[in-house]
Amino acid sequence: MTTESLSTLIARVRDCRLCADHLPLGPKPILQVSEHAPILIASQAPGTKAHTSGQTFLDASGDRLREWLAVSADQFYDPRRFAILPMGMCYPGRLPQGGDRPPRPECAPRWRSEVLSHLRSVRLTLLVGSYSQVHVLGRGRMTERVYHYRDYLPSYFPLPHPSWRTGGWEKRNPWFRDDVIPALRMIVHDLINAAPRC
Ligand code: SF4
Repeated sequence: MTTESLSTLIARVRDCRLCADHLPLGPKPILQVSEHAPILIASQAPGTKAHTSGQTFLDASGDRLREWLAVSADQFYDPRRFAILPMGMCYPGRLPQGGDRPPRPECAPRWRSEVLSHLRSVRLTLLVGSYSQVHVLGRGRMTERVYHYRDYLPSYFPLPHPSWRTGGWEKRNPWFRDDVIPALRMIVHDLINAAPRC
C-alpha cells in the first residue's frame, strides 16, 4: 500500500530524466491523472503538439478519439472522468521514414505500476493502439482484438490508435462503426455519468 500522495508522485514523474539522452526535445512527461477517474486511456506517446502545449490529444487524433467516445473536449480533459497515461510519457522523436517513434521502452516499467496504484477509481481501461495492448494483453493482432472487444470487458476495451491512418482502417472494417463504436459510447457514458462530481 502506497503512502505517497498522488501529487508527490506526479512531481517525481515530472522530474524524470531516465531516457533524456534519447529524447530530441528533452523530457516533458505528459499525463492526466486523478484518484476519481473511472476511465483510463492507455495511449502511446505524446506528439510534438502535446509536447508544446503540455496537453495530450490536442490534435486531429484527439478529435477522432473524442468522436469515437462521443465526449466533448471539456469532458475529455476532466481528470475526474478520464485519466490519460501514455505508455511513454515524453515525446520520443521522429522515425527516419516518417511518423513518430514508439514510446520509450524505459517509461512503462519505471512508472506505470506506481501511477496506476493511485488510480483507485478506474473501472475501464481503453487500450488505445497496439503498444498498450501488447503491454497489458501480450502479443496479438490489434484488429482482431478490437473485433472481439467483448472478450476483454469489463476491465479493458481495445481500440486502434486514432491517427489519420485509422481513416482507411475504418473503411476496411465497417463493423467498427456499426458495432464497436455504439457499445463503446454506451459503456463510457454509463461510467462518466456515474462518476462523482467533486
Ligand atoms: S519518457 Fe518516461 S522514462 Fe523517459 S524521461 Fe520521460 S517520463 Fe522518464
